[in-house]
Amino acid sequence: MLIAGNWKMHKGPGETAAFCAGLLEALGDVSDVEVVVAPTFVSVHAAVEELEDSGIRVYAQNVHWAEEGAYTGEVSRSMLIASGVAGAIVGHSERRQYFGETDESTAQRAAAALEAGLGVIACVGETLEEREGDETEAVLRRQVGAIAEAIPEPDAALSIAYEPVWAIGTGKTATPEMAREAHTLIKGFYPVERVLYGGSVKPENADELLSQDDVDGALVGGASLEVDSFTAICETAARLTRS
Ligand code: PEP
Repeated sequence: MLIAGNWKMHKGPGETAAFCAGLLEALGDVSDVEVVVAPTFVSVHAAVEELEDSGIRVYAQNVHWAEEGAYTGEVSRSMLIASGVAGAIVGHSERRQYFGETDESTAQRAAAALEAGLGVIACVGETLEEREGDETEAVLRRQVGAIAEAIPEPDAALSIAYEPVWAIGTGKTATPEMAREAHTLIKGFYPVERVLYGGSVKPENADELLSQDDVDGALVGGASLEVDSFTAICETAARLTRS
């Protein structure tokens, strides 16, 4: 089980260091669950320093496919590796919605990162309009299809995060059945080992979501910003892994 905290555009280096110190203290030994935090680029160094020698890994929130070049605002795989980063989130719906990320650019970023030895959490998910128009399956096939084309044989370093766009940051959560259905569908057409659920995961709903078949962890936004709530979700995942 993997629990990843996506901090989005929150926490500068000072807050990041303090959060990581608090997380280490609260979580202690986290051997039953893989824990990842994804700070903003400028805070990656602070997180890596603070979490050194712990089992908690640091991911970036994006990565470019080129080694270097005229790509203002982007960060390359080798820059992340040199900074001690273990992986990257790609294709988050906020990147798709606000910054023009596409199925193809998401797949390109994912493939390049994996090739360099980074872990990847590639995000997919339907909008409310698409769900209401009965298009969820077609959208997931298209989004995951682009990833499958770029990465025909996924290994354990790749996780897909199913994040229904209507459930992100809204307090609305997919029902456990909706999550299970979508995860099973994704695994049915792409042999990825791990599908994470994302969309308003909190301590109160973590148990019922994470205990579903084919739900292999969570990508957590809002509830990953506080040590207590993030720790509670990680502990739920650890307990379910042990049981
Ligand atoms: C996310 O940003 O990936 C996310 C799922 O956010 P939240 O948990 O706040 O809905």
